[in-house]
Amino acid sequence: MSLLEKYYTDEHRLFRDAVRRYYEKEVTPYVEKWEKDGIVPRQAWKKLGEMGFLCPWLPEEYGGMGVDFLYSFILTEELAPTHCGGFFFPLHSDIIVPYISTFGTDEQKKRWLPGCAAGDIITAVAMTEPGTGSDLAAMRTTAVKEDGHYIINGQKTFISNGICCDLVIVAAVTNPNAASPYEGMSLIVVEEGTPGFEKGRNLEKIGLHSQDTSEMAFVDCRVPEENLLGQEGYGFYYLMEKLQQERLVCAMGSQVGAEEALRLTIDYTKTREAFGRPISRFQYISFELAKMATEVEIGRAFLESCLIDHLDKKLDVKRASMAKYWICEMLNRVVSQCVQFHGGYGYMEEYPIARMFRDARVQTIYAGTSEIMLLIISRQLGL
Ligand SMILES: Cc1cc2nc3c(=O)[nH]c(=O)nc-3n(C[C@H](O)[C@H](O)[C@H](O)COP(=O)(O)OP(=O)(O)OC[C@H]3O[C@@H](n4cnc5c(N)ncnc54)[C@H](O)[C@@H]3O)c2cc1C
Repeated sequence: MSLLEKYYTDEHRLFRDAVRRYYEKEVTPYVEKWEKDGIVPRQAWKKLGEMGFLCPWLPEEYGGMGVDFLYSFILTEELAPTHCGGFFFPLHSDIIVPYISTFGTDEQKKRWLPGCAAGDIITAVAMTEPGTGSDLAAMRTTAVKEDGHYIINGQKTFISNGICCDLVIVAAVTNPNAASPYEGMSLIVVEEGTPGFEKGRNLEKIGLHSQDTSEMAFVDCRVPEENLLGQEGYGFYYLMEKLQQERLVCAMGSQVGAEEALRLTIDYTKTREAFGRPISRFQYISFELAKMATEVEIGRAFLESCLIDHLDKKLDVKRASMAKYWICEMLNRVVSQCVQFHGGYGYMEEYPIARMFRDARVQTIYAGTSEIMLLIISRQLGL
């Protein structure tokens, strides 16, 4: 039984029905096209905003519904059967917009949040650079104060929503002489159209084809001082504070992906015949399916327990990192075996398991690699 069952109200259930119906009509039929185009069109974001499905947790005064995090989970859960891994609105709703809502001034919130909820403003966050990803302290992008502006210079890469975005939160070094590199970094909002801000090409990836992931260049990019998020020099601490939810969001996507891959594979093995019987009747295959079902069930129980902690504002670094690490690795184990049990069809684009296999691979890499998760967990063990 789901640990979350007692947390769901009739409103949650009605919301789930509405989301499912909406995805069936407005997402599923377009996934193939978006995958071929390498991008999800703005119109799809706008429609999602009109439905109230972007940032539903935002207070009503900013265009949200002021609801709990379970609504975000429902939006992610229901996305799994669409097989559209590249529509990165959860990154916008649950990872990036929270920076503005938590650290923004009243003026910044009034200026940006209603557009974020409506689908008029698509957001991105730019931390990674060509020379550094895991080691944020080695960041080179600088932001120098001059005449009421920050002059940003540097390059970012692998930025999700990088082509579509209207607003990007850039991590940059504002004090190169700080006692520690962690104290010299700030978060600055750069808007589309700012002179000196250039989006690079839409990067070709092995998976997540409908997700626009790009490079970004900042060349003497002048941004008004008012676009600083929170206090200067606190960027690293803000990132650390918000990373728990980011890791949970990744774990959520991986868990529901593993469940969907297993469901598809159980169905497939029951209908595909070899040597005169459905392949699910071979003991080896049934035992492997049983192992996967066990892993998926364990992932679900741990994820739900983390979600409950998160609802109670008690989710700690260790458990969030464990969820990101284990569930994303588990997805990759499961989805790879699921391809195997589809035989040659598992390698064919027309079977959703093929896309799920490609899309899954990055889950152990972005938002903190598995190795970085292990580093963080090990630091919590009092070794
Ligand atoms: C599709 C995609 C979307 C992305 N979206 C964004 C985005 O929106 N915004 C953004 O800022 N970034 C984004 N990223 C970047 C992503 O977060 C980084 O790629 C990731 O953090 C790893 O950094 P790196 O690529 O520089 O690898 P590196 O840091 O160079 O790591 C290479 C390998 O070394 C290992 N390693 C590094 N340090 C250690 C250590 N101390 N101990 C043991 N092993 C270690 C890593 O685990 C990895 O296996 C995205 C990446 C991809 C692929």
